[in-house]
Amino acid sequence: MASMTPLLTEFEKEHITERQALPDRYLGLSEDEMDARIAEARRSLGSRLVILGHHYQRDEVIKFADYTGDSFRLARHVAARPEADYIVFCGVHFMAESADVLAAEHQRVILPDLAAGCSMADMAAPDQLDRGWDELMEMEVATRRGSGQAGVVPVTYINSAAAIKAFVGERGGTVCTSSNAAAALRWAFSRGEKVLFLPDQHLGRNTAYRMGIALDEMVVWDPDEIVGGVDPDRLVRARMILWKGYCSVHTRFSVPQVEAVRRQHPGVRVIVHPEVPWEVAQAADDMGSTEYIVKAITTSPAGSVWAVGTEVHLVNRLARSLAPERTVLSLDQFGCLCSTMFRVSPNHLLWILEELVEERVHNEIVVPDHQKHWTRVALDRMLSIQ
Ligand code: SF4
Repeated sequence: MASMTPLLTEFEKEHITERQALPDRYLGLSEDEMDARIAEARRSLGSRLVILGHHYQRDEVIKFADYTGDSFRLARHVAARPEADYIVFCGVHFMAESADVLAAEHQRVILPDLAAGCSMADMAAPDQLDRGWDELMEMEVATRRGSGQAGVVPVTYINSAAAIKAFVGERGGTVCTSSNAAAALRWAFSRGEKVLFLPDQHLGRNTAYRMGIALDEMVVWDPDEIVGGVDPDRLVRARMILWKGYCSVHTRFSVPQVEAVRRQHPGVRVIVHPEVPWEVAQAADDMGSTEYIVKAITTSPAGSVWAVGTEVHLVNRLARSLAPERTVLSLDQFGCLCSTMFRVSPNHLLWILEELVEERVHNEIVVPDHQKHWTRVALDRMLSIQ
């Protein structure tokens, strides 16, 4: 896998310098004290507070979530508690941005640690997309001029900055998640001949391949190269234009790991997230979003053995509490940890909540007004595509 230098998103450029260090008084607390004080702050805030927790959050944090799920499910839960003044999002910043766009006017969205970003989302910068789109337009593949039909429909994974979602929404595209990526591609292909899929090439490739699109009908667009570094003839023939982004967690899974777990555990079922490389998806028995993985394992017969290719906190939770009568292993024996999800600590959660009790808001996520409309359009399309 070629390495890329993650670029700062517009969000990060604007907000990362506002990151406040956790006050010293929130360091070195015992787990029992944190638990008791978080519970007390939640009680004080009552229905004014809703806490959303992504599946990849650590146990000490997710146990306080009112709603848990993947990005898609959590985006739906934003509307579930309109009476809440504060939405504390235990996840990463692109999720909190989406929550701010989907939330009611009076609701304030808070990310417990502003440094909780996503390296994949950072791989698509707005200026790169602007430039790439212009190049596609100049090549007359983005619009089939005179035909009335779009040449390229942009589809962005929810793991992208609000500025990217707004760009895509304004150009007739949609946001997708790993739960509805196939439906989003069908939607896009009913509107155009090609899809520009960003930022995760693997989700795009794995999903399109499953839908019957051949690998030689896909090209990888390198945003650091002129015209994406793609041969123009191949670009004209391509149906999928895959942005050269990836998840640093899910690309650690490999075919030798699949082979090793099959040797060690005959009869094991290997299930992976679609952010893994194509070869790993081919070697696995099944593939799907985190919600899909949870459902597949928790509804499997007692005694089943699973090797899972996704973030290790979810895998451990499945093993310990969600699917206790099955054997659930990480495909990577060292476990694949999302270090940015891990930044949200119980200490940060406690600090945020106790400050809210005092009516002080820290780490608020506010998507600029000029991005809100088209981001909302793109997210509403995502929510309507099943
Ligand atoms: S697991 Fe990968 S895609 Fe998900 S938040 Fe972490 S870095 Fe981003």
